[in-house]
Amino acid sequence: MKKVTIIGAGLVGSLLSIYLAKRGYKVNMYERRGDMRKAEMSVGRSINLALSDRGWKALERIGIADQVRKVAIPMHGRMIHPLEGDLVFQPYGKDKQAIYSVSRGGLNRLMMDIAETNPDVNIIFNQRCTGLNVAEGLTHFYDEEKDKEHAVHSDLIFASDGAFSAGRLHMQLTTDRFDYNQYYIEHGYKELTIPAAPSGGWAIEKNALHIWPRGKYMLIALPNEDGSFTCTLFFPFEGEPSFSTLKTPEQVKEFFKSIFPDAVPLMPTLTEDYFANPTASLVTVKCFPWSAGGKMTLIGDAAHALVPFFGQGMNCGFEDCTVLDKLIDKHSENWPAIFKEFEANRKPDTDAIADLAIANFVEMRDKVADPDFLLRKKIEARFTNRHPEKWLPLYSMVTFSHMPYAQALAEGVRQEKIMDKVMAMENIEARWDSEEIDKMMLDLA
Ligand code: FAD
Repeated sequence: MKKVTIIGAGLVGSLLSIYLAKRGYKVNMYERRGDMRKAEMSVGRSINLALSDRGWKALERIGIADQVRKVAIPMHGRMIHPLEGDLVFQPYGKDKQAIYSVSRGGLNRLMMDIAETNPDVNIIFNQRCTGLNVAEGLTHFYDEEKDKEHAVHSDLIFASDGAFSAGRLHMQLTTDRFDYNQYYIEHGYKELTIPAAPSGGWAIEKNALHIWPRGKYMLIALPNEDGSFTCTLFFPFEGEPSFSTLKTPEQVKEFFKSIFPDAVPLMPTLTEDYFANPTASLVTVKCFPWSAGGKMTLIGDAAHALVPFFGQGMNCGFEDCTVLDKLIDKHSENWPAIFKEFEANRKPDTDAIADLAIANFVEMRDKVADPDFLLRKKIEARFTNRHPEKWLPLYSMVTFSHMPYAQALAEGVRQEKIMDKVMAMENIEARWDSEEIDKMMLDLA
């Protein structure tokens, strides 16, 4: 039986272990942290993520989607909280289409539990990868509990150790012509909380992703199963206003009262959370190649870290597993061929979603409150309803389809040019739902 080492038991590593064990590999997965399922490890931030079609497909393919569905809350659209005026609900797609809020820690714990039901998956905790010797099939770890270095031999090595991957660092140091690009945006993020309503249940609409768009920054909130919402403030590190200018509880309170007035009464622990929770940075990582020696590959965030504004980092990492699994069939377990095709196929797509994720930040924090943008979306939605075979909006291509990301990006650029022409039509506000506009779009699409 072939032995596999997986570095990192995060979301992607855990899913990959299930895939490989089902194919008869003996999987040892080494995780830097302690076991988050143990009581003493369960404290900490409650990040939640939007799980969408690409992620679901990877879970379905291996038969575990139903278990995840039990802990996922559907969000059918964005609920926009303007500074003034009424809330506006913008559906994400058609009918019952939704993205799903899941707790990152909760999902990770569940996936580890599922992985361990297979006797061929063994998760070893407190093991920090410190280096690799791919030619010898060796992965080096520092055992944090025993304070001891050791090396593990295996036939294959997968580095799913996240955005700051030790596996990738090894490739940077040892692989000839290894391309590496790391880009921090000028915004960071901070987790805040809206607790469950005093009477129980959710204090604001449960089945929506709430956004307070404010031009250069925004606050968002995703529902949790216990009635609370995890809020995330995406805010510049420097400048006015920024993390660097909000220094006291009074300043935070005043700022939130004037900028997010309807959120403040829902956040009784706002200032405590603000100062207790860390401010984290947001990075895009692109690199190539992903594999070495036909024996090892990067996967998930280790290969392609994204900013979170298209809600695709985990979905993309899960899709990596779908793609890899198909290639295992195609190449009958010829791993050098699998790894080569995996990185060559996947790289244009992960580059595309990385760029789309950066672009979507501007859409979320600014455009969703802009009347021109809303009209554009209305025209697109009308055209999609009438001619679904001709037009799928970019958001739907990324979120509700399995079209390669690079193709979605190219199609999005083409659609934008068409929409620019439509929006330039005289008096478009009055003519947007006319047959004339429909015909014009049919000619252009
Ligand atoms: P990780 O989840 O980072 O897991 C890596 C694992 O490797 C960790 O357990 C870590 O402890 C371990 N590790 C690290 N270094 C070592 C080492 N040297 N040795 C051993 N183990 C190691 N994605 C979505 O799809 N939808 C969303 O809505 C979404 N929202 C997000 C919001 C925020 C604020 C952020 C920051 C990210 C968001 N993402 C989202 C992205 C998503 O969290 C990541 O893409 C996903 O977690 C990547 O999974 P991974 O397993 O590749 O890496």
